[in-house]
Amino acid sequence: MGMNDLAPWLHAPLRRALASLGEGRLAHGLLICGPDRIGKHAFAVALTQALLCRQREDDQACGRCRDCVLYLAGTHPDVRAVGITENEKTGVLRKEIVIEQVRDLGAWFALTSQRGGAQVARIEPASAMNTNAANALLKTLEEPLPGRFLLLLCESPMRLPATIRSRCQRIVLQPPDVDTALAWLRARGHDEALARSALLATNGHPGLAAHWIDAGLLDLREVVRNDLTAVAGGHKQALEVAAAWLADDQTAQRLAFAADLAVDLQARTLGVATRGEWKLARTGDAARLGDWFDAANRTRELLRSPIRADLAIAALLRQWRQALAA
Ligand SMILES: [Zn+2]
Repeated sequence: MGMNDLAPWLHAPLRRALASLGEGRLAHGLLICGPDRIGKHAFAVALTQALLCRQREDDQACGRCRDCVLYLAGTHPDVRAVGITENEKTGVLRKEIVIEQVRDLGAWFALTSQRGGAQVARIEPASAMNTNAANALLKTLEEPLPGRFLLLLCESPMRLPATIRSRCQRIVLQPPDVDTALAWLRARGHDEALARSALLATNGHPGLAAHWIDAGLLDLREVVRNDLTAVAGGHKQALEVAAAWLADDQTAQRLAFAADLAVDLQARTLGVATRGEWKLARTGDAARLGDWFDAANRTRELLRSPIRADLAIAALLRQWRQALAA
């Protein structure tokens, strides 16, 4: 992958990582973190290729040397990727990354590089490692060998044990400024007005904005906002809306949107900067909106348990009406 294929907000972190490499300061363990869809995988791929390339140009892999060609073909012998795999005995997809996978990785790191260059491994998502796997990884992190790099991909470092976090150098991927985000969405063929709404709703996260547009989630969010407005105004009944929210497999997403929208309304109530997503006459009570945010998230968690989801969501919606009546 060339630098040009990489989302623009990933260029600077890649340049910084390669500058560290040039100065001999790039750690053996690299924790690549950032929100969902920010580009952790694409970044790890670009960094891996750059670490393997023998003719790096400026701050990127050349794309032509033998190592680049092998890497792009998916056949470079000095690259490993560890993730969620099937249980060989049952054929069922595991829920975690297990100790055997991490031990294999440690053994592989101890071997000599086949092409005589760097050896790069990726664990994705690193938060999927169970306790035993994470403990086994410590051994690898504590005994770094030259030219070996371990890339741990994770949404939040807090999802990893402190012992692992403290042994890794952090690379934090973040959304860019609004102009960059907007230009990127426009280049992908998205209408400017739609792109702006999506950036507003995602707090400026272009990767998530693109996903919400493509998956129709921006529309779903608007339906949720309209439903909440109708419930607050007494134009729709809580049970009626609860049934609609349970009609398909998007219930958890609706509750996540509802919680996030409550935060925006709370900001308006407190007179701080808001995204301006609400056009309600009343703004309700800030403390009760805060409580409601927690309640919406708790209800979302409850969906995984055997509860009467319709009653739980209807109760939540009645609580919403009360918070806004205050
Ligand atoms: Zn190359």
